[in-house]
Amino acid sequence: MKISRWLLAVFATQMFWVSTVTAQGSPPKPVAQDEFRVTLLGTGSPAPVMRRFGPGVLVQAGGKTLLIDCGRGTTQRLMQSGLRLGQVDALFLTHLHSDHIVGIPDLWLTGWLEANYAQRKGPFVVYGPAGTQGMMDGLAKAYDWDIKARIADQDLKPDNIRAVVSEFKPGVIYDQGGVKVTAIEVDHGELLKPAFGFRVDYAGRSVTISGDTRFSPNLMDKAMGTDLLIHQVAAVREALLESPVFKVILSHHTRPEEAGTLFSAVKPKLAVYYHFVLLGTPGISAVTEQEVVEMTRKTYSGPLLIGEDLMAFRIDKDQVRQLPARTP
Ligand SMILES: [Zn+2]
Ligand SMILES: [Zn+2]
Repeated sequence: MKISRWLLAVFATQMFWVSTVTAQGSPPKPVAQDEFRVTLLGTGSPAPVMRRFGPGVLVQAGGKTLLIDCGRGTTQRLMQSGLRLGQVDALFLTHLHSDHIVGIPDLWLTGWLEANYAQRKGPFVVYGPAGTQGMMDGLAKAYDWDIKARIADQDLKPDNIRAVVSEFKPGVIYDQGGVKVTAIEVDHGELLKPAFGFRVDYAGRSVTISGDTRFSPNLMDKAMGTDLLIHQVAAVREALLESPVFKVILSHHTRPEEAGTLFSAVKPKLAVYYHFVLLGTPGISAVTEQEVVEMTRKTYSGPLLIGEDLMAFRIDKDQVRQLPARTP
């Protein structure tokens, strides 16, 4: 009995090892200097599920490595994307809701270690809305013991843990090496200001990321003609809209039919959903992703994908190509 349990344990360990290796596969090819690549690191919302980690979008263009939001698991997904954590040049925050920033301490504090997966050389650069400086100061205070200990004990360089924060207003907030990031004010709700989406332009190509917003005419305007449009989506069944809790959540987000209207106006080469807010109760099932597509089709007939963690795209002059799938 003892032996068979032991064998079972060995077998289980090996199964785990095999499945881990198979799932991660070999790292993707490095990004060429003129390539414009976008990777969905996390496509989820606050729900703590394994399939969809918190919001995070990696944009690699013109030799720059930019990260939009840093939700739960962003650090792990960055590694799965074949990057050292220290390779991130700058983090851009759409807004300060916890599901978009809860991964920051991990990326910031793991990223300056000397291990080969980290190795940030230079400060942690953050572009965020009003309140970001206070948040980063608070994190420095919270992790003060760890930071001081690693400087004293491991001789880590204080400059590599320093956070350099730029609090931005709408407009162009980053313009380096031909890569331009524009902050677009969106509408996440009266009490949830400020909130932004971002458009990243490089060499006549672009990606626009909605962040959290209800239907935003300003986003529609600024995203016009963008190649790749990554947009959040929310839906519940009619019966749940009676409940004030669901009503409030839904009022902060964009429904599939509304997103379709926006996609039809913007005419991206590809529209992709991320940040899924599809809520249910034990008695009333959540809206499915297939139903989200069907609802969107009432107002939009162009190219559309349900985003998945680690789904990646290459934006070329004439097309947006989905890169080979990598299972989280
Ligand atoms: Zn939010
Ligand atoms: Zn959110």
